[in-house]
Amino acid sequence: GEIILHTKEFDKRGNISSIEELNKLQSSIKENKQNKYEYTYKDNNYLLQTKYIKELHLYLFVEVNKQEYMNDLNEMFYLNLLISIVVTLLTILIIIHFINIYQNRLEKIAHEDALTGLDNRRKFNDDIEAMFENFYRGNIESLTLVILDIDNFKQVNDSFGHLTGDKVLIRFAEILKESLRKSDFVARWGGEEFSILLINSSEDEAQHIAEKIRFKIKEDTVLNKLLNKSVTASFGIGKLKNNESIDAFISKVDSALYEAKSTGKDKIIYA
Ligand code: GH3
Ligand code: MG
Ligand code: MG
Repeated sequence: GEIILHTKEFDKRGNISSIEELNKLQSSIKENKQNKYEYTYKDNNYLLQTKYIKELHLYLFVEVNKQEYMNDLNEMFYLNLLISIVVTLLTILIIIHFINIYQNRLEKIAHEDALTGLDNRRKFNDDIEAMFENFYRGNIESLTLVILDIDNFKQVNDSFGHLTGDKVLIRFAEILKESLRKSDFVARWGGEEFSILLINSSEDEAQHIAEKIRFKIKEDTVLNKLLNKSVTASFGIGKLKNNESIDAFISKVDSALYEAKSTGKDKIIYA
């Protein structure tokens, strides 16, 4: 039971039988029943591990002050916890960032016409519905729809090939974009048909915009160069009336376009 060697900080001296709490453990340690203990000494808790070294006939005691040991552990635990939280938050932020990028990409694919970069019909339908509601809520004063269709476009493909046909569509879309205000909507309605939604334009203004586009298309040097002749388009145009449904609104503009086609093309018919 004699303590014969110890570290500098060790505060117990003499025989362990004189150290009250250790004294109680002495017989158990000697019998080698177990080798892990916990005891209290001067209001401090100690964790003790013992090992008998046969060759030296000595017991090796390794002990720590539990409170100090736990303080270190706690400190390490909270530091690790903090690092984990920061890393987790960073990871979440990075994931959200990439989800957003892919979400935007998907939205773009879902809403955009791949050839011309204009909105596609799905997007235009959403916009027309939203504007329709705005009109009935009184947020906007007027809604005018223009549907235009390139004349004899099949001939363009037949004579010059699909690639040139595509170039015509791309240039056509550029002209439309250049001719409209930011607040207006323009989309590729399908094939060689395009649709425009004018917000708060009077009949005169709408007619003027359609005329301007018809003229620009005809005179465009890029289009003329591509086909060695001018491109023309036919227009149906109509203003949303009170109590008119979206379907009736679109249908009357479509009929106006049909009339423009059947009465000679390259013209604008107001529904
Ligand atoms: P109309 O004056 O009566 O409108 O006659 P059109 O020849 O313009 O109309 P039609 O409906 O007979 O033909 C439309 C053509 O548009 C047929 C189709 O091959 C072509 N087209 C549709 N989409 C595309 C496209 O993305 N690229 C090309 N190059 N051609 C297309
Ligand atoms: Mg056509
Ligand atoms: Mg067509």
